[in-house]
Amino acid sequence: MTILITGGTVVSATGSGRADVLVDGETIAAVFSPGSAAFGPVSADTVIDASGKYVIPGGVDGHTHMEMPFGGTQASDTFETGTRAAAWGGTTTIVDFVVQAQGQHVQDQVALWHEKAAGNCAIDYAFHQIIGDVNADALKAMDELIGDGITSFKLFMAYPGVFLSSDGQILQAMQTAAGNGGLIMMHAENGSAIDVLVQQALERGETAPYYHGTTRPWQTEQEATHRAIMLADLAGAPLYVVHVSAKQALERIAEARDAGQNVFGETCPQYLYLSLEENLGAPGFEGAKWVCSTPLRARADGHQDELWKYIRTGDVTTVSTDHCPFCMKDQKDMGVGNFAKIPNGIGSVEHRMDLLYQGVADGRISLERWVDVCCTTPARMFGMYGQKGVISPGADADIVVYDPNGHTSIGVGKTHHMNMDYSAWEGWEIDGHVDVVLSRGAVVKDESGYIGTKGHGRFVRRGLSQNLI
Ligand SMILES: [Zn+2]
Ligand SMILES: [Zn+2]
Repeated sequence: MTILITGGTVVSATGSGRADVLVDGETIAAVFSPGSAAFGPVSADTVIDASGKYVIPGGVDGHTHMEMPFGGTQASDTFETGTRAAAWGGTTTIVDFVVQAQGQHVQDQVALWHEKAAGNCAIDYAFHQIIGDVNADALKAMDELIGDGITSFKLFMAYPGVFLSSDGQILQAMQTAAGNGGLIMMHAENGSAIDVLVQQALERGETAPYYHGTTRPWQTEQEATHRAIMLADLAGAPLYVVHVSAKQALERIAEARDAGQNVFGETCPQYLYLSLEENLGAPGFEGAKWVCSTPLRARADGHQDELWKYIRTGDVTTVSTDHCPFCMKDQKDMGVGNFAKIPNGIGSVEHRMDLLYQGVADGRISLERWVDVCCTTPARMFGMYGQKGVISPGADADIVVYDPNGHTSIGVGKTHHMNMDYSAWEGWEIDGHVDVVLSRGAVVKDESGYIGTKGHGRFVRRGLSQNLI
């Protein structure tokens, strides 16, 4: 089966220009100048007309949590529903997290996550490993996982008693990563300080969702980010700080990068657009829709604009979703009367490409930077580049035809295929549209809608990060 995508503008992380793309089976066979004499007329089994449209690498979402257990419930998207929603939105690879909590064995958990995902995904998937219990067994498993294609390890400075690692444990895990070439990902919030602030707020009767934000102030994020940077420096390990929302934390990341350290920042659409005041502070219990950690920050303090700036400067390396959806009914509502019991997470896996394209339409980032932070650099960061993240001969044919003159209305009953009973983006209007999506050469979404199949998605064995100095 061959597919010719013709007439479009191919956009990469470094430039854009008119080119046709020939797909043969699961991979890209050629990228060539339309009408170029060297090729003559090219025929294919299927021709996709991309005139007036962008042809970009499929999105790589480096941070998702499908069916993740959390506080007695689990994230409401399964690997099946979540990857289908991703496909709708132009994302063709996710990197999800295997969870090892305290008392669990890493390798048992890896087997469990493979079981959950295998045969269920619409698009390709890979895994990071959460190490919630750093001990001799877990450190040994980190070495073993590198060979199994799981080359990044998330640690927590938050959630005491569940996932939190002590500074000594963090240092040990970083030393292990420094030895085996793995990448340490950090949830950087000072969990012990946050627990005190939460307790004090509840005692004052501050129980509404808004207080989720005020009890995780920027100081707790900046302090933890700084500590992680120093420990990584001590261990000689690279550090990738996940879901950064405070501008002060990014200041520290930028300083470390300027000093030549292998430190990277990730942010998510919710931190670029949404806020403490407007969203977490919505009337009644509505704010629960936007309870996630790190929390949404105050617009009055200018975090959102600063985050866009750091995307432009490169100090925000990637934009992922931290997709971790929960329904309002029977899930978020566990926290009525106590914000600390609201499951943490927002679902956005379907909308990341559109939401960041809106940044292009608004003049905040360039077209190329959009492709860079959403597709190419996540692939490089997590050791998949060449196979993923690029439109080039030999790469997997993960391709999106994006219409800059199209329009997308986000909301339940409109474009909403995530398994959630609300949208965190209800009413958002986007100046662009995902027209066609190919996953390894198969059209999984076109103008008729989703036409992919469950189980098409395969596990991607990742190499070491290709984005380290
Ligand atoms: Zn986290
Ligand atoms: Zn997460």
